[in-house]
Formats: sequence, structure tokens, C-alpha cells
Amino acid sequence: MKIAFTMDDLPLWPQSYPPAGYSAEGIVKSIRLALRENGIKGVYSFSNSWPLDKHPEMSVILDDWVADGHHIANHTHSHIELPDVSAEDFMADIDTAEHKLSRWVSQAPMKLFRHPLCHWGETEDKLREVNAHLELRGLTPVDVTSWAYEWTWNRAYRNAMDANDMGAMAFVRETFLEFSVAQLRHDMKTAQAWFGAEIVGITLGHNVPFYADVACDYFACLKEAGAEFVPLEDALRGPVQSAVGTVVSSEFLVLQQKLASASGHPIRKLPNDQRDLHARITEMAVGQSG
Ligand SMILES: [Zn+2]
Repeated sequence: MKIAFTMDDLPLWPQSYPPAGYSAEGIVKSIRLALRENGIKGVYSFSNSWPLDKHPEMSVILDDWVADGHHIANHTHSHIELPDVSAEDFMADIDTAEHKLSRWVSQAPMKLFRHPLCHWGETEDKLREVNAHLELRGLTPVDVTSWAYEWTWNRAYRNAMDANDMGAMAFVRETFLEFSVAQLRHDMKTAQAWFGAEIVGITLGHNVPFYADVACDYFACLKEAGAEFVPLEDALRGPVQSAVGTVVSSEFLVLQQKLASASGHPIRKLPNDQRDLHARITEMAVGQSG
């Protein structure tokens, strides 16, 4: 399984500030160390610039990311979601991010963009307008073929932490490793079935506290399961990239799921044997907003 790993939302996850014992800088540092430990290089972070306005000191997070040989790309200024705003407002937010992130994006080998929540546009007009704007700005939109729902595990983990329940924390960590391997295999299978060819997958991680704690084991586990981490450039050739932004969609879905859904034949999001576990973790995550 060849995969290009990417990160979203540096320097600060838009949904919440880190809890006591964690910091935005510390979380990203742990992830950087985990990447280094596992020999994963040149990782693109799709970043928002709003935290830099409120917390200028967070620019060091992006500096350190780039100093490690990783790259920064555009993920809008304020993490607005395309279905919630007009195409004009969305495009202006892209431009704001491009300006405020220019110090870092100018150092990246490629000028890339990812839509918040991977929404390409819920109407033909918005899809076309935003695609044209990205082209005008020389930005290549990059989607995702697999994610591991670590935001749900993060909420379950934070609930367990708040309750000081070490057993529950260990359960959340251990089950994530098992789940993430099964989810990656499932997504690689569905993407390859959809495209009818071997593809290079694009995976995604977020800078949340749980991910910082589990990242090193997570990458090692994926490698043990046969994942080979390759540069994002390798994933941006061929049928996967050609399909980005080709169908209207306002659902939170990975690329092949958006295409399949638009064709009227939706793909299962979760592997069958992980549904119960996912439901259990979702239950453990209730009440936690961050
Ligand atoms: Zn995001």
C-alpha cells in the first residue's frame, strides 16, 4: 500500500484549544518527532492562517514544521466550509490565507490547496467558480482517499482523561491502532475498485492531543501492516488527482466516496468488522466538543 501522508489544520485545530497538559506547539512537536522516528519526510500541512492573527507566537509551529523538511499549503484563512458561504467569500478567504501564509507556502515545492472538510462545492456554479479561482491562483486542490476518524477517538480520549480513567484511555489508544489499519485497507480497496487500478493513497492526520500521543505507534503500525510512505507528488499523478473537484458534494466524504455517491452507488465508509468498535468509540466521545 503506497500512501502519501498529509496533515490538516496546523497551527491550531479549529474546533478547540488544547486541554491542560497540552499545547498547540507541543502537539505538533510530538507529531514531528513521530514522523522523524518513522522516516516520513516532506509532509504537506494544509494550514489555516486565522490562529496567526490571534496568536502570532504560533508562527513558530509553522517555522519548525518547515525546518524539519515538511511543507505548508493553503487550507483557507478561517477554515470556512464552502456550503456555508458564497463562492466569493470562500475565494477571498483562500486569498487571505495565501497572503498570510506566504512566508511558508513560498518555500514549498508545490502550491497546493485543500478544501475544509473536503467539500468541493454543493452546486455546479460554486464548484466551477472555486475551481477556476484555484487555477487562476496556481493552486492544485488535493483531496484525501483515507482518514482514520482520529477526531472521534480524540473526543473519547479527552472524556477518559477528564474522568481520570486510565483503562479507558488505554482502550482508546489500542483500539485506534487496530481500527486505523483496517480503515486504511478498506479505503485503499474501495479506491482501487473505483479507479480500476493500483493507486497511491492520500491519508490525513490532525493536530489533536490524542494524535500527538499515538502518532509514533500509529505510523509504526501502518508500516508493519505494509504501508509504504511516499511523497505527495507521487499521489498527484494519475486518475485520483484528475477526479478532484469533478462532482458537486456537500458531504464529509473521502474522494472515492464522493465520486461513488454522485454516481448513485455509495461506498461503505467503514469496514464491516470495525463498525461496532467505531460506534462504541462514538458513544465514549459524547459530550466532548473538542
Ligand atoms: Zn481542516
